[in-house]
Amino acid sequence: MTEALYLKDSYFKECTARVTSVSDDKYVVLDQTVFYPKGGGQPWDMGRMLRNGDVFNVVYTGHFSGQISHEVDRVGLAAGDSVHCILDWDRRYQFMRSHTAAHTFASLLWKGTGALISGNQIELDRTRLDFNLENFDREVIMKYIDEANRLFEQDIPVIWYELPREEALKIPGVVKMQSAFPPEIKTLRIVEIVGIDKQADGGTHVKNLQDVGQIEFLKAENKGKTNRRVYFRLID
Ligand SMILES: [Zn+2]
Repeated sequence: MTEALYLKDSYFKECTARVTSVSDDKYVVLDQTVFYPKGGGQPWDMGRMLRNGDVFNVVYTGHFSGQISHEVDRVGLAAGDSVHCILDWDRRYQFMRSHTAAHTFASLLWKGTGALISGNQIELDRTRLDFNLENFDREVIMKYIDEANRLFEQDIPVIWYELPREEALKIPGVVKMQSAFPPEIKTLRIVEIVGIDKQADGGTHVKNLQDVGQIEFLKAENKGKTNRRVYFRLID
């Protein structure tokens, strides 16, 4: 099983690793990795693997057959090889900022309206949140965007840790976003915006709300009687 270093520390940008298997000449499994596999509304990481002087670009990272698989752009890697992994940090850091922004907005919306998130998708240029809310207008959304932006001006730490499942599920609102936690998962990873929000989550986040910067409302759509969709983006 690959050790997922990004769960321990979202700020790991590089690691050395050993190739444990390669399939179809381009799907590489490692003993440990800093590359985040697509999931939970957060896109996959890209970057490079270096083996001595050889460069293998990582174009996709995902879960396949229960393993974290890295797709590389050329053949040549083999089980047993030692590689140095380097993230495309600019890309990843955008996703971290957006992901923490999404949690903050979802928390404010939930506290204010009771709305739960039914879907979310982070992209480089925008983030989408779907939620269930009957009464919905632009002013309501703008109010929570503004409140979130005020929080992003404050020195508020974001931390992550594991809790036993039963203890975690007692936290009010700990599952606000679309997530599946099958019963065999005994430990949940909690992402806590200190004093603001606790959310069961496997994504990568910035370590302080100030690192989000500011966000900007893009558009809102009605997707059925109570299903709402909001898009925002990072400013800069
Ligand atoms: Zn999340």
